[in-house]
Amino acid sequence: MPVRPTSQSGLQPQTLAVTLGRPQAPGDPLNPPMVLSSTYRDGGPIGYAREGNAAWSALEEVVGALEGGSAVAFGSGMAAAVAVLDGLPPGCHVLAPAAPYHGVTALLRDLDAGGRLRVTTVDLDDVAAVDRALVDVATAGESAAVWAESPTNPMLDVVDLTALGRTTDRHGALLVVDNTFASPLRQHPLRLGADVVIHSATKLIGGHSDLLLGLAVTADADRAAALRRHRHGRGSVPGVLESFLTLRGIRTLAVRLDRAETTAGELARRLQRHPAVGRVRYPGLPGHRAADVVAAQMGGPGTMLAIETVGDALTADRVCAGVRLIVAATSLGGVETLIERRARNDGDRDAGVPPTLLRISVGLEDVDDLWADLDQALDRAVGRQSGPRSEPPPRA
Ligand SMILES: *Cc1c(COP(=O)(O)O)cnc(C)c1O
Repeated sequence: MPVRPTSQSGLQPQTLAVTLGRPQAPGDPLNPPMVLSSTYRDGGPIGYAREGNAAWSALEEVVGALEGGSAVAFGSGMAAAVAVLDGLPPGCHVLAPAAPYHGVTALLRDLDAGGRLRVTTVDLDDVAAVDRALVDVATAGESAAVWAESPTNPMLDVVDLTALGRTTDRHGALLVVDNTFASPLRQHPLRLGADVVIHSATKLIGGHSDLLLGLAVTADADRAAALRRHRHGRGSVPGVLESFLTLRGIRTLAVRLDRAETTAGELARRLQRHPAVGRVRYPGLPGHRAADVVAAQMGGPGTMLAIETVGDALTADRVCAGVRLIVAATSLGGVETLIERRARNDGDRDAGVPPTLLRISVGLEDVDDLWADLDQALDRAVGRQSGPRSEPPPRA
């Protein structure tokens, strides 16, 4: 049952997220079938299940259209990252920030230690420094790639992708952007100058904390073909059920984002006034260091925020232990609000994530219920009396 692309002309992204990736012939089911078969009768487009699946193709059609390229689905976000890095020439210099997703840091370190790639830490905010580093690599006659993430996990730093794209373009370096935190409905790195985008669809795209899946997207047909060959040859394929559920998740991504983003903004503003909070990191707060960049390159500030509590790591741990409605757990992007002290991970601690930083993935619960829970957990973490509030904070 072929899944043919619908005409995309003039349709809004949230419409495409609903309409693409569907079988089109009269009598077809509305949703792509879950074909549970490792092999196929000779003579068709797919011979063996590592080559393709109707559920992968449907998902790839949607994400490819939203990002503006050809999408390739993998078994996880890390599998997508491995596939992209595997496509770099041997000895390629990879410039990466000190604190991207910690799994990527560990992967880059392994590839550097094994001699496959050469990894240098750069501050991606300092485009002049990136430029100088790329000049050095070019002078040595070697190839280069820049690994960027924006907003970053867990620091919520924002990188000027347009400026970075101009620089990598000038030097013929590849620009890879991990777009997991923004999602394909809030930021389109390929249109800003990136060569490859990756997603952990485990997070916002899937949206229900019930699967692992990754995607790599590129507008370069050869690169897309290489990614597909990698998936087939290395076996880093997504599961059929996971692909089906990810597609089901992306159907509602627009409304989930709208709601969670509104709540995240409101919580960020209230958290700024809480005496147990020293700093709030949220790209949507007025006065954010990169407010201009956020406005220029993002369709909205997203659903992730981070706070630094007063006190020390124990204070922050007490907040995680004290929440009742919010779940203390890793991961993000699901319908339920999660909180985690990220520096409990060695990788994040070593990368300079503050010990008191709590990353909050905002879900779909009522904003006042979430606030009441955070408020009492913060109060108790610093030994404040958490009685009935005099006046509930106004809704913005
Ligand atoms: C979770 C995450 C990954 C890794 O994705 P998995 O699906 O867990 O393999 C990569 N980048 C970012 C920003 C993430 O949050």
